Amino acid sequence: MKFNKKLESINTYEAGKPIELVVREFGIEPKDIVKLASNENPYGCSPKVQNAVAKIIPNMALYPDDSMTKLKSALTGKYAIENENLIIGSGSDQVIEFIMHAKADENSKILINSVTFAMYEIYAKHVGAQIIRTASQEHDLDEFYELYKKENPDIIFLCTPNNPTGDAIDAQAMMEFLEKIDKDTLVVVDCAYMEYGAYKDASKKVIPKELLNKFENVIYLGTFSKAYGLGGMRVGYGISQKNIIKELYKLRPPFNITTLSLEAASVALEDEEFVNNCIALNFDEMKRYEEFANEKKIDIIESYTNFVTLCLNETQNSTKLSDALLRQGMIVRDLSSYGMNAIRVTVGTKEQNSRFFELASALI
Ligand SMILES: *Cc1c(COP(=O)(O)O)cnc(C)c1O
Repeated sequence: MKFNKKLESINTYEAGKPIELVVREFGIEPKDIVKLASNENPYGCSPKVQNAVAKIIPNMALYPDDSMTKLKSALTGKYAIENENLIIGSGSDQVIEFIMHAKADENSKILINSVTFAMYEIYAKHVGAQIIRTASQEHDLDEFYELYKKENPDIIFLCTPNNPTGDAIDAQAMMEFLEKIDKDTLVVVDCAYMEYGAYKDASKKVIPKELLNKFENVIYLGTFSKAYGLGGMRVGYGISQKNIIKELYKLRPPFNITTLSLEAASVALEDEEFVNNCIALNFDEMKRYEEFANEKKIDIIESYTNFVTLCLNETQNSTKLSDALLRQGMIVRDLSSYGMNAIRVTVGTKEQNSRFFELASALI
């Protein structure tokens, strides 16, 4: 059977391995498996969210509120924006998909960082657009600007803090960069980890309202999957000018967010204290990874997120290491597919991290 030619060059996105797979393949009990591979919040979500969701479980026969009034008013309040500046996606992933279809086609170029979130490339390939990558591993805005001048891309993706490396762009420098970009190029600022980045260092904080005030051509992306502990609920959002949001809406399937997810995300925003506590714990625990890397004489990239990237020495191999960990029930992310001899480890709870150090110590 023949398929769309555009699919030929796509490598299916490899999600962090689920606990169920490790149970099946290695016969390990779920309670003995630690998943530190997908940057979920190891403390889960606010108990208020769990209560609220439990209450609406009996009401599953009706379609969700497609105007998403409750969640939209919570988000517009948080960011001091208007309803028409906001689109909600089934994860911010879905918003990236809308953006790609709204702005790019076979004749388009998409400029991204050399090492960054894999979905930008996959969605670009859906529409047949060409990917241009920088050379430097961290976002280098001078290099982005040079390539922008040379290639005239339709979309530029900036991921700050970046996945899978954890570094973040200086917010002021980014604003200066954005001023130099013409209004026909859409710049996507993916802030999936911004709650962490802004907590650690205020100079990294990107404020959607400021982007809206200054730029016609920028879209801010946020998600409930990371700091808010709702990865399983699939809720993300985009904030941009009304004319851009209006185009994205044309691509949105009806009822793209379930009733349970809408409720969970709305209530999560009522308990910022829970999230802030999780973030504080995250950076406390991260120090132990820095010490571990020091002891083992391996490089760790300074992280503004809830994960660390451990860059191995030449004598070590990230695929072998992550496989060996997996066989013992420890799921981490091998970054070899990103061209790095490194592993990415989500900073877990104290116990989860201790288990990682115990197992990894024997292997590194
Ligand atoms: C996790 C992640 C997302 C998307 O998460 P969703 O679960 O689809 O909201 C987007 N960008 C980056 C960089 C991420 O790490």
